[in-house]
Amino acid sequence: SAALVWFRRDLRDHDHAALYHALASHPRVYCAFVFDRDILDALPARRDRRVEFIHAGVVELDAALRAQGGSLIVRHASARDAIPRLAVELGVSAVYANHDYEPDALARDDAVRGALGAAGIALHTFKDQVVFEKAEILTGSGKPFAVFTPYRNAWRKALTAAHVDAYPLEAYRSHLAVPTSEERLPSLGELGFEATNLTALRMPCGMSGARTLWQDFKQRIADYQRTRDFPALKGVSYLSAHLRFGTISVRELARFALMQTSEGADTWLNELIWREFYQQILWHRPDVVSRSFKPEFDALRWEEGAEADAHFAAWCEARTGYPLVDAAMRQINQTGWMHNRLRMVVASFLTKDLGIHWLRGERYFAAQLLDYDLAANNGGWQWAASTGCDAQPWFRIFNPVTQSEKFDPGGRFIRRYLPELAAVPDRHIHAPWLMSPMEQAACGCRIGTDYPPPIVDHAAARAATLARFKSVRATP
Ligand code: FAD
Repeated sequence: SAALVWFRRDLRDHDHAALYHALASHPRVYCAFVFDRDILDALPARRDRRVEFIHAGVVELDAALRAQGGSLIVRHASARDAIPRLAVELGVSAVYANHDYEPDALARDDAVRGALGAAGIALHTFKDQVVFEKAEILTGSGKPFAVFTPYRNAWRKALTAAHVDAYPLEAYRSHLAVPTSEERLPSLGELGFEATNLTALRMPCGMSGARTLWQDFKQRIADYQRTRDFPALKGVSYLSAHLRFGTISVRELARFALMQTSEGADTWLNELIWREFYQQILWHRPDVVSRSFKPEFDALRWEEGAEADAHFAAWCEARTGYPLVDAAMRQINQTGWMHNRLRMVVASFLTKDLGIHWLRGERYFAAQLLDYDLAANNGGWQWAASTGCDAQPWFRIFNPVTQSEKFDPGGRFIRRYLPELAAVPDRHIHAPWLMSPMEQAACGCRIGTDYPPPIVDHAAARAATLARFKSVRATP
């Protein structure tokens, strides 16, 4: 009997759980991807780097499958209808897909399972995007972990070589099938989207792009621990969007990291484990999507009204007057990616210097990030806002100037994104409002004209935040 593999956030032709199981069990296997109207129609803009990135990945996957005797059937429709209809058209007995843990995806998969079931077709789903999923890693008393370090220790203890083995699907490639009626892949324009600056950014897309980034990072992985916190350095892997869309296998990355002996590789593996930590939080606590992980913090009174709206707009538009925050916001606005240290800094600034609800920042990131992932983004925001699981304690408040001095000491990153500060002397680059009028004139950066003064005073904001948290939490 024939089967259909439904690709979603797993755009690759190798080490793929669903593809392996389908190929190993069926003599004829079709492959499909749906540009899901339920998702695309809800996007705020018709220029979206993610749609372009996915499109490039789909084109490459189709070409790769064709080279092996198969193809990718691509539909532009609601996946809830398109997959059951396609399965019936092709006459398959089963559909294969990999798990997606986001609440909307779970609801979609339930609907598809129901429709397929009504037609007598099974939906088989598999763990693929993580090493450990759902409730595989629990505390000794069978509860989900709420603290990272013991979760990580349990994760490492549970790990066997088999968990990171690649699915050996090569032996079954001859089972790939092509439908009798051939369709052309829709172009980005036919999907209703325009090209973004992804090409100008030279963002490597698809499986080949992931491979390029991975080969490059493998050479640097030993230095990760030393360089990862400095946004001006090439210290991190830049693989997040590829992990998000599955153009590379997490098992391959974890396997390599585990074989290394460097501290850098060990720290990097921990980041992959953070990714799974937040995935399991979302699985156990889907309510975190709109609520605090720690319910007592739902009582926090965040700033609202005209002033808060103006502050939020200044944050989004990189006009806070704090150079590191503004440079970081330009990075996300211009490229769809932001360095992890900066994500922490700007999230802390929004929630603790401006007192604005983390959900507003989280939604802004969700619209901008190429690597946007509900679990990681929500986890990161709740971490910074101190409302989350194993979060930054609420009384620990990043000082945006000190963070800048520490992690961008020469202001190299700041100057890259804020050319208006290019000539500001190093000693003033982190707090340019402290320059005298003469110094401002000398470097051609007049505060209030060429660059804004700070929109809030950090010391006053800090005191207000401590009071805000104390009102719902009597003791640290
Ligand atoms: P590397 O440092 O090379 O790390 C390797 C991989 O580990 C990343 O690609 C990512 O998959 C994972 N990872 C690293 N750090 C974390 C973390 N703290 N939490 C979960 N996974 C992690 N990551 C996303 O993938 N999508 C998001 O939407 C997202 N939103 C974030 C929002 C905030 C406020 C914060 C503080 C962090 C967020 N992160 C998010 C985590 C992290 O910033 C990015 O994964 C990282 O910057 C991506 O760059 P990289 O691939 O070079 O990371």
